[in-house]
Parts: sequence; C-alpha cells; structure tokens
Amino acid sequence: MYTIEWQKRGLPHVHLLVWLVNKIRPNQIDSVISAELPVKEEDPVLFEIVKKHMVHGPCGTLNRNSPCMRDSKCSKKIPKPFQTQTSTSDDGYPKY
Ligand SMILES: [Zn+2]
Repeated sequence: MYTIEWQKRGLPHVHLLVWLVNKIRPNQIDSVISAELPVKEEDPVLFEIVKKHMVHGPCGTLNRNSPCMRDSKCSKKIPKPFQTQTSTSDDGYPKY
C-alpha cells in the first residue's frame, strides 16, 4: 500500500507500507533501508537532486524564518541525533 504526496515545494514523495513474507529482525533493518546521501563523487547529479529536494532546512539558528519554525524551534525536531544503526522506538517511528 502506498500514497504519493505532492507538496508545495520539493519533490513528490511516497509513504509506503510493505508486508514481508519473512519478518526481519531489528538488527536486519539496515540491510534493507538506507537514509544516506548519495556519494557525490560517484553520482554528482543525484547528490545535488537529493541535497536540493530531500534535505530539511536550514532552520533553527541558521534560519529562524524557516516555515518549520514554531516557538523558536523546528517543528520537525531537526536536527536529529546521528544514528550509526537504525533503531525502533515505542512511538512507532524508526530512528535512522
Ligand atoms: Zn526545521
């Protein structure tokens, strides 16, 4: 099941729900999901597209007038702490 969202700015994006025949364990998530920038030297065009359309911000102290700012804080809670591995949480959102 999926839905494609067309927002005011940036590229359309998809929210996707996949049912797996064989369940994966939390320690296997990083083998099927990646939340990384493309390597600029390997694919400079894709790197620039992702950087332009898929990266949040700048906001916070770098841009206090960003549309995401509410009460002097990013409403999307960006930046998020760096994660060396994906983890799951009780709120249902993975931490990439
Ligand atoms: Zn923000």
